[in-house]
Amino acid sequence: MTDNFKRMDLAAKPQRQWLIFRDIIKLAANGMLKKHRTVITKNRVEGLKPPYILLCNHNAFFDFFVAATCVYPSRANYVVAIDGFTMPIGKDGFMSREALMRATGCICKRKFTSDIRLIKQLRRILNNGDVAVIYPEARYSLCGTTAVMPDSLGQMCKAMKVPVCTLICHGHHVNSPFWHVGDRGVAPTSAEFEMLFSKDELSQMTDAEINAKIRQRFVYDDFAWQKEHNVEINAIDRAEGLHKVLYQCPACKTEYRMASKGDKLFCTHCGKSYTMTPLGELKADTGDTEFSHIPDWYEWERQNVRAEVKSGTYGITLPVHVASLPNSKGYIDFGKGTMTHGMDGFKVNVSGKYGDFEMIKPVNTLYSCHIEYDYLGKYGDCVDLNTLTDTWYTYPEGEDFSVTKMALATEELYSNK
Ligand SMILES: [Zn+2]
Repeated sequence: MTDNFKRMDLAAKPQRQWLIFRDIIKLAANGMLKKHRTVITKNRVEGLKPPYILLCNHNAFFDFFVAATCVYPSRANYVVAIDGFTMPIGKDGFMSREALMRATGCICKRKFTSDIRLIKQLRRILNNGDVAVIYPEARYSLCGTTAVMPDSLGQMCKAMKVPVCTLICHGHHVNSPFWHVGDRGVAPTSAEFEMLFSKDELSQMTDAEINAKIRQRFVYDDFAWQKEHNVEINAIDRAEGLHKVLYQCPACKTEYRMASKGDKLFCTHCGKSYTMTPLGELKADTGDTEFSHIPDWYEWERQNVRAEVKSGTYGITLPVHVASLPNSKGYIDFGKGTMTHGMDGFKVNVSGKYGDFEMIKPVNTLYSCHIEYDYLGKYGDCVDLNTLTDTWYTYPEGEDFSVTKMALATEELYSNK
């Protein structure tokens, strides 16, 4: 059934960023970049004038401050997911949070949906003579490495007929990992701001060539960067939360029984434990270290999920509760029900005081999905499923699941289709 809640206007014309907000953001950015002693290297951007597209990698909120610094004094618009318009960071002041977000240049999208209205909005931003800032990975990286990007990106860049720049930041994941958000004071951090394609270069290339070059430019690994630059993180709780990403024990192969505390990551099934060094490496406390490099462990998990997908055995059914986000006013409790994720994709059914609802996301409609770990520090892990008119924060219950595995399976199912 359908509900009667007002919907977020995803077709709203992008507002030009108010100059006052451009300057306030820049001032805040100055402080943050100074604290982290951020070094920005530039390539082919001297004398660059908007309009242009800026594609950025995405690891932490700090990304926005570096982007704002690079584009200044040009005005920018940012493509932001709907939860960015609703985050409960205090009461609305002189303007609603949604109005504030729009005045700072944000345009709203629902994650991992194919929304052609975005093309029209991007065109308008560029016609205004501004910078369109896009995070093509569409979510924070789970372990500081590149996340999958859509095939439509090359076509979109080519159609806009403006220069395409990239901003690749380093150190933002290890400073504030998605699995344990905070600020570990990493300094210096670095960023590379460059023009990847001039307007003329774009016109000479095929969509596939553009995609290939963007993907090549977006290869990054924050843990490798940390080691290479000898960046020590001595926070005593530096491994806490890591089990959200590394959910499978490489010693006994058991899933969902990893845990973490302080600088330790351990399996509650077989007891094997690892210490995370100040350089972000893992060392087994006894016996072999299967993976000292965190992204290698994560990719091993992906291989295991891929094998399940290839053999057609992947599947999980869980009790869930759902919070829906039809607009920017806040979450609506859609009640309890069941989520199945299997070879056909996601299917969620819930019922509550507003009625019975169903969300179906077939495999071929979802090349990746957004997940949250312990959302906002109190709601638990969830999978964020979207249509063009709604966003469901779907919270599985119990202990026998990993939203990381569901995200990996979503990507593997799509590429296996
Ligand atoms: Zn184990």
